[in-house]
Amino acid sequence: MIQENLKRIVATIPEGVTLLAVSKTKPESDILEAYEFGIRDFGENKVQEMTRKYEALPKDIRWHLIGHLQTNKVKYIAPYVHLVHSVDSLRLLEEINKEAKKCNRVISCLLQFHTASEETKFGLLQEEAVQILESESYKQMENVRICGVMGMATNTDDTDLIHREFKTLKSIFDFLKTNYFSDSQCFGTISMGMSEDYKIAIEEGSTIVRIGSSIFGERDYSKLA
Ligand SMILES: *Cc1c(COP(=O)(O)O)cnc(C)c1O
Repeated sequence: MIQENLKRIVATIPEGVTLLAVSKTKPESDILEAYEFGIRDFGENKVQEMTRKYEALPKDIRWHLIGHLQTNKVKYIAPYVHLVHSVDSLRLLEEINKEAKKCNRVISCLLQFHTASEETKFGLLQEEAVQILESESYKQMENVRICGVMGMATNTDDTDLIHREFKTLKSIFDFLKTNYFSDSQCFGTISMGMSEDYKIAIEEGSTIVRIGSSIFGERDYSKLA
């Protein structure tokens, strides 16, 4: 089933767009099925769960942290995380820099923006990102690399609204690229789009789509310990 789903989805994703398989709440056997299909990028939203899976599964998997990250948990993922999608404060970025340094790594990060009209979503406003990028603290950091932006659209049937929200994220990306990262080799990532809206996200310039339930099926939170 998982491989059938992947075959169908991969056919809709253009070259240059990465498919991130969101495996949160799903067992390792499901991840291995996607792995055997050829998927190497997996997304999780909980530090403990991701670390457990990292330890158990093949070491060439690239683990993406896509959920809200608490500063006191950064140390658990710093040794291995491939990309943190959810940087939403200077304090968090400082902590990632500190823990990355201990591991002798440079950790790639995305700034997460609040672009949805829904209130529950985490994320920065453009002005807040500017404050981070202009801070002395950020300018001193040597162990983080900001590679782009991440955001979510409102969970709605209103496709015009979804288009507008993704356009907003793309325009924030363009603004930051022009004003802060014009020399950066790395700043090129726009992480947007989930199972229900990834096709719209690709039309609006996404470079990473984060797809969970369309690959692995609906999540059953009641089964979790
Ligand atoms: C769960 C999750 C996804 C995947 O959602 P689906 O609707 O299952 O595709 C993508 N991004 C984030 C941040 C998530 O938490």
